[in-house]
Amino acid sequence: MPEQYAEESLGHIMLSEAEYPDKHFRTRTGAPRVAQHDNRGFFSSLLGRAGLGGGLFRTAELPSRSFRSMGTMAAVTLGGDYAGRIEEVTEEIRAIFDRLESEMSAYRPSSVISELSRMAGVAPVRVPEDTYRVLSLGQHFGNLTAGAFNIGASPLAALWGFNGAAVPMTLPSDQSVGELLELSDYSRLVFNDGAAFLPAKGMAVDVGGIAKGYAVDRAYDYCLSAGIRDFLIDFSGNVRAAGRPSRKQGWQIGVRDPFDGSSILGKITLPSRSAVSTSGSYERFVDILGERYSHIIDPRTGYPVTGTASVTVLCPDAVTADALSTAFFVTGLNGAAELLEKVSSVDLLLVPDGYPTHLWLTPGFDKVLSTPTEVRRSLLSCQ
Ligand code: FAD
Ligand code: MG
Repeated sequence: MPEQYAEESLGHIMLSEAEYPDKHFRTRTGAPRVAQHDNRGFFSSLLGRAGLGGGLFRTAELPSRSFRSMGTMAAVTLGGDYAGRIEEVTEEIRAIFDRLESEMSAYRPSSVISELSRMAGVAPVRVPEDTYRVLSLGQHFGNLTAGAFNIGASPLAALWGFNGAAVPMTLPSDQSVGELLELSDYSRLVFNDGAAFLPAKGMAVDVGGIAKGYAVDRAYDYCLSAGIRDFLIDFSGNVRAAGRPSRKQGWQIGVRDPFDGSSILGKITLPSRSAVSTSGSYERFVDILGERYSHIIDPRTGYPVTGTASVTVLCPDAVTADALSTAFFVTGLNGAAELLEKVSSVDLLLVPDGYPTHLWLTPGFDKVLSTPTEVRRSLLSCQ
């Protein structure tokens, strides 16, 4: 069975105040704890309801466009004052995303990232500026998170059937996991004079946990430089916004319920100039002998992460939000406090994989998230 994912999904659902009555919340009393196995059908129907061919914005009057890039969906929404520029802005952002994809896709043999992995243990590879910055940021976040975020975890991901590899018929042995742990080390990537080098054969890099956030930041910079002040970019759950959609209200997005894709956990009112990223186990996973394994690998054990259902990070920029949402997914609730102490201006919403749903959130997140009264919320008291 192939790696499964929600082909048409965006990680968040944009909302307007008027269209966010409490009836959108659904309590899950008695709901089965097994998450959706294949979410594609669901997401399609959600898109159908929104009626915007992929954009999930529910306020008909705002200009919004969506398109595919990096194997997933992106959406651009502008404040009403910029309606006349939606086509031009969308095309520019699409071009930015597509250019970054052609450099950094592990799914394209022609990309620099694929070349870097192919030349592991053989020779350094010259890397263009954006790829260099993403790899450097990858190492930075690897160090910051004590290796929970690891762009070198690609050999392990492939062992478990991700990144285009065949899904194994049986569980990988402890020995094969152990052998790949040493090769799955981001810190061994070396840079020299505009080139990058993976020093051992079998090493590989995968920027799937950071490149979309980076791309959103580039798109954000472009919008500001083009004179657009009110906009929201959503690249498969990596969101960054500026300004406001209208004079009456700020940007609002819904966070998907990881246990029930047809509802949302709650509503975030985005602070000005902020970014949000959600990592979940519900969209991309493999099935081995009837068990679901998440696409996020714990690089310390070599096994797919268990125990976390979803993580949402709120902070000023999208690349940090993207990398840290993946990292907090790995640390889970137990390691979250330790990592929170190392970062600044970062707020977190973490949902452990358990029933009934329990939200753990930092005080800053608590201020911007509204949920139905029956949802259990606890503060992460570590900032
Ligand atoms: P995130 O939580 O942000 O990241 C999880 C991803 O990061 C994993 O899927 C894995 O790639 C990597 N990862 C796993 N464990 C770790 C870890 N511990 N530390 C750091 N990273 C980790 N998908 C396709 O199906 N077809 C495509 O053609 C395709 N092209 C792509 C091109 C590019 C340039 C990129 C960046 C991704 C592409 N993808 C493609 C993958 C896909 O769009 C997403 O990256 C993937 O679904 C995971 O993103 P996420 O935001 O859901 O998860
Ligand atoms: Mg990420």
